[in-house]
Amino acid sequence: MRKINKPVLKAAVVYPVCIATVGNSELRGRLEHCQTLINNAEIEFEAKITKGQIYTIAREIIVNGNVTYKELKNVYTAQMVQKPKGRVYYDQLLMAAPGGLCPLCSHREATTLDHYLPKSKYPRLSIVPINLIPSCKDCNTGKLADYPIGPNDETLHPYYDNIENVMWLNAIVNKTAPVSLSFNVKAPASWSNLLTNRVTTHLDCFKLNILYAAQAARRLSGMKYNLEKIYSSGAAQAGIEKYLVDEAASNAQVNLNSWETAMFRALSEDHWFCSTGFRLIG
Ligand SMILES: [Zn+2]
Repeated sequence: MRKINKPVLKAAVVYPVCIATVGNSELRGRLEHCQTLINNAEIEFEAKITKGQIYTIAREIIVNGNVTYKELKNVYTAQMVQKPKGRVYYDQLLMAAPGGLCPLCSHREATTLDHYLPKSKYPRLSIVPINLIPSCKDCNTGKLADYPIGPNDETLHPYYDNIENVMWLNAIVNKTAPVSLSFNVKAPASWSNLLTNRVTTHLDCFKLNILYAAQAARRLSGMKYNLEKIYSSGAAQAGIEKYLVDEAASNAQVNLNSWETAMFRALSEDHWFCSTGFRLIG
């Protein structure tokens, strides 16, 4: 998970621009009367996101007594995504993705905006910038749960959570044929139970262990020839360890908690893998 600077953009700016292009004047009038509720929803989100209280935000299907969740969803999909004036804000938020990568998985390309709380259940947050996170399509659509029911269910939020500077992604070398890797959370001593649970939820919710294990299997296959060459050149186990340690250090410069960094570190520390296990790469 990568940290992104919180957008300075506010719903008070985005919402009026988006609803101004709604063609039906009766609907536009009802939407205009939601402005204060939407501003307040932004304030509530901001106050609760760092306190593990996001799950207490009320879900609803009608806003202000006469605007349906579908009508507010549509302000996002038909005005903010598709109309040029709203799209300016959409693109502005999307471009904040570091290196164009999805901050939720740190692996795939960010091509869309993900609603941290879904617009179908929290329609007031449909166009609130702090609820919109650059993401890849898979993270956006493949989430296991779409809303939290307790503090431990709150996935990481790239605008508010920063866990980049400590090592927490752990890889496990499975001594199988073919050799494989699994990934889990190894919480630093400084973390609270809540943060540990949330990071674990994040990995589960976005199925990152599956993504990382598949990527690692592919990368391992590409390494087999090279590792055998290093070993048989006379460098043996020490040569393999050195190669893997260097790769771990190099990848850690880019992202301390990428699957690559975790994989190379785990492999370099595994005596079985460096002595004989590498021959079981598929
Ligand atoms: Zn992603």
